[in-house]
Amino acid sequence: MASKINTSFTLIPNQKYRRSNRRPSSYFSNTLGSDSQPLSTLGNFKALPLEIFQIILRYLSVKDISMLSMVSKTVSQHIINYISTSSGSKRLLLQDFHNLELPSKRQDSAILEHYRSLGLLFKRCTLLLPTRERLKYIHKILAEVSCFKFNGCAVPIQCLGLPCYGIFLQTLTAGWDGLECHRVYNFLCELTNLSRKMQTVVCSKPGSARKLELRIRLFCRNVLLDHWIHRSDSAFWLTRILKPWPMVNQARLLYIIFGPVSPQDVVPREWLLENNARLLILSGNNICFTFMASKAVNGRAIELAKLIVFLALVCEKELYCMDWAVKMMQKVCKVFSTPVERNNFLQSVANAFACVIMEMLQSIMSGDRDEDDRSFLNLFHLVHAQANFHKEVLYLSMNTLST
Ligand SMILES: [Zn+2]
Repeated sequence: MASKINTSFTLIPNQKYRRSNRRPSSYFSNTLGSDSQPLSTLGNFKALPLEIFQIILRYLSVKDISMLSMVSKTVSQHIINYISTSSGSKRLLLQDFHNLELPSKRQDSAILEHYRSLGLLFKRCTLLLPTRERLKYIHKILAEVSCFKFNGCAVPIQCLGLPCYGIFLQTLTAGWDGLECHRVYNFLCELTNLSRKMQTVVCSKPGSARKLELRIRLFCRNVLLDHWIHRSDSAFWLTRILKPWPMVNQARLLYIIFGPVSPQDVVPREWLLENNARLLILSGNNICFTFMASKAVNGRAIELAKLIVFLALVCEKELYCMDWAVKMMQKVCKVFSTPVERNNFLQSVANAFACVIMEMLQSIMSGDRDEDDRSFLNLFHLVHAQANFHKEVLYLSMNTLST
């Protein structure tokens, strides 16, 4: 996986090399010297009792400890033991995720940076283990942090736990190939029972499992998707999330993960029509047409007419070619099966222009002053959108007549 920190990491040897070297059964031991590793790889540290070695670690930064862990397997083992001690985990597993009194960006980024360094430390300490063993070990240690758990935090919206967990995992998995990252995703799914939870929300009515929707959104965004620099990485993880589901459930999951949120909770509210129109335009001709054609097939002419108005408005605001909107209307028109239905639809489009203009005018006349400028500008664009739209319709019909 590409990431900005990629280059600063020791590259992990490839799978084959690691397989031949791993010795998981003897890798972790809780007592110094009980294992078969020769102590000589401790170098001058050999003279020191374990307690003193751990006291020295207290004076080192997390980054320095992670450098030290690469000296030898024995040193790395001692460091692993240190992480498991109560003083080690107290120092390393910071849990100050809810500092609401003094919300400061700097404090936020300090704890994120800490978990970035910690990810590197774990990456280096567990270098010789196969992926699954690595993950198991790491999660045994991280199990202490309740805010890292799917349901572990009481105030998930204000919590920095999951973002820290995400940064930690990002650092840990930097440079891993797709297959190994897939293992990571499966491991997380098993750990959190994510698929089962997703099943529950996609099978129930929107908003009926609001808390679960929120947890799923926060987990996917904070742990798996939001912190990547490169879009391809986000796309990789998003593909892991969506791939097992049929298309209709994928759409629902996308909505839960990326849809708009109200300040109180995550339940998506109905979008403004203008935003719907923008999304459709950005989705490309095929999706846009398919969406509109399905409305036409279902006889929802009035709804469709209003959408045409907002497609025209977005074209006007964004300086897209207005003839695109007209041609889209023409194509959709052909979906209606009878001339009567087609004429009704065209009549509805003309009415919808008048209706939306009147609505905007009314809101300006009754609205407060602050809103005035924005509403007025919107109306201005809409009137021009209507003019341009009709100009294109005239061109189309007149040119057809003259040829
Ligand atoms: Zn929390």
